[in-house]
Amino acid sequence: MESPYAGAPGTGGAVNVPERRYLLEQVDDAALVQYYADGFDALPLDQKILVWHLYQAALAGRDIYYDQRYRHGLAMRAILEAVLTTVPADDEQWKTVVAEIRRYTKLFWINSGPYNNLTSRKFVLKCTPTELLAVAEAAAARGAVFPCGTGESLPALLRRLEGPFFEPAFDPMVTSKTPRPGTDILTASANNLYDAVSMEDLEGFDEKYGLNSRLVKHAGGLSEEIYRAGGRYGDEISRIVGHLRSAIPHAPEATRRALEALVRFYESGDDTDRVAYDIAWVADKDSIVDTINGFIEVYLDARGVKGAWEGIVCFTNEGKTTALRRLADAAAWFEERMPWDPVWRRREVVGVTARAIDVVVETGDAGPLTAIGINLPNDQRVRERYGSKSVSLANINEAYDKAQLPAYRREFCWDEAEVARAEQWGATASEVTTAIHEVLGHGSGRVADHLEGQPQLALKETYSSIEEARADLVALYFVSDPKIADVGLLPASHQGEIVLAEYEAYARNALVQLRRVREGSTLEEDHMRNRQLIVYWLIEHTDAIDVRVRDGRTYYVVVDETAFREGAGRLLAEVQRVKSEGDYDGARELVERYGTHFEPALRDEIVARVDRLNLPSYTGFVQPKLEPVRSSDGSIVDVAMSYPLDFERQMLEYSGAV
Ligand SMILES: [Zn+2]
Repeated sequence: MESPYAGAPGTGGAVNVPERRYLLEQVDDAALVQYYADGFDALPLDQKILVWHLYQAALAGRDIYYDQRYRHGLAMRAILEAVLTTVPADDEQWKTVVAEIRRYTKLFWINSGPYNNLTSRKFVLKCTPTELLAVAEAAAARGAVFPCGTGESLPALLRRLEGPFFEPAFDPMVTSKTPRPGTDILTASANNLYDAVSMEDLEGFDEKYGLNSRLVKHAGGLSEEIYRAGGRYGDEISRIVGHLRSAIPHAPEATRRALEALVRFYESGDDTDRVAYDIAWVADKDSIVDTINGFIEVYLDARGVKGAWEGIVCFTNEGKTTALRRLADAAAWFEERMPWDPVWRRREVVGVTARAIDVVVETGDAGPLTAIGINLPNDQRVRERYGSKSVSLANINEAYDKAQLPAYRREFCWDEAEVARAEQWGATASEVTTAIHEVLGHGSGRVADHLEGQPQLALKETYSSIEEARADLVALYFVSDPKIADVGLLPASHQGEIVLAEYEAYARNALVQLRRVREGSTLEEDHMRNRQLIVYWLIEHTDAIDVRVRDGRTYYVVVDETAFREGAGRLLAEVQRVKSEGDYDGARELVERYGTHFEPALRDEIVARVDRLNLPSYTGFVQPKLEPVRSSDGSIVDVAMSYPLDFERQMLEYSGAV
């Protein structure tokens, strides 16, 4: 599971360091930000070489995610990149249409396809099909190569992709958990995890490769296209495996065992090998360099079962890890104090390993849009028996913080005191609650035996929202506990202000996040749902938050912190019960009633306020670049890291288009 960044650019604290560029450019409502990984140069050479091979393994799987997200994703990307690499931006004849293609392509790269990652909705190219064909033909005349099918002409290719490029109503949502009448959550979702399969088709079907297969319907019923060497994505997987094998000789013992288990899983695709890999990965607690590589998070799937491919390479940030370790060591203390029915407490709390990391590269489902916290593995059975690893992405947090603009706070805070608290403590509050969410939240609690460790099968499309709400509520409930200051996550003398700053930011976010959903009146993204669920529930059931309107502007004002915490505890008890019992109706009641629907008029008001300020609403990241330094005999003597500060160039390099 992952924690995305909740705030807008502009909700945090620090001042831009002038000599280092963070915020590079803005494309529509997306910001592009360079992140840095300063500790890399100080790693021992063997660890740098290990990172180099793992970095290549992460890049080798990037296209899998494009294809999982949309069946036309790779062809569309190839067309866009062919135009951008052959027709110059200042070409007199084409500059207007090329500028539009460039705008669209940047959004396409940020979101790994034509769907906004937060709203699930499609965005389209705003030139005409005729203009696209004309510029593509000009590009072809200059030598560009297009992904035409056998015997397919360029005009035929573009005609085939006219719906995907230009029509908002064609395949409108990548993941739809609240489908229109007559469709269901699978047929209404345009992602490529299923081919023509409905929820009804799944009844009685024995799914053997839940996490790592694409389900296809044909005359004889359903079949699974397994993601493994020799199977679906076999070419990409073979390249990943090749780089993992090159990495193994440079890895410490525990990492070596995990990488070998990962290679076995990629080769067989069998769930038993995936479990063995999860266990080996969790056991690798102390290595400096780590990687996440595989079919991991299930947010893309409306059922919450199929894993989206991602690759992450990171190393430990020692300085920031100490307090997290102490929090993890106190996990049993917190478990005994969870405000839910004691029957759902974990009997023995094992192995939550918490670290702050600096990432070197994030691909697929993990980048250019990135989480700020990650807790894995997702398999509840492995978590309960072997524990989990929880990481906070220190250099991503830093880049968010440094790229920020102050105007958001002013617009949505009720008074100057709230603005001042947000400026002084917003970044700290966000870091602390993300840590509690990941280290204590996801790792806590147990589920009823009859669920066999798989509550997601019972909770279906509500699972991810319920699980994220649970982890957020653990954080909101405990952030005011003196034990949090004891372990060193925040200074005791300022805990009261930090707690209030967090509650205020949390309440504010339920308003501000509406800017991201410019159409319709429902939320689809799980974290957005869980955050609204909590705030709307607190508004209805407690006196913690006042809804106020001043000069036509709506504000959510936290007026009673004690009521906030007490309400969070009460809701947490219910959310845990729902998860533990696999109570689908109870989960639907919460997610539908509080987390899904919003007033379009309120959203229009928020959008108008944000647009007046012309501020971005989400962030894509430009990553460090690695290059090996070789001696005359070809062996690697160093690995150099540089910072490209150029999103387009980096994306074209990743695609092999330059
Ligand atoms: Zn989470």
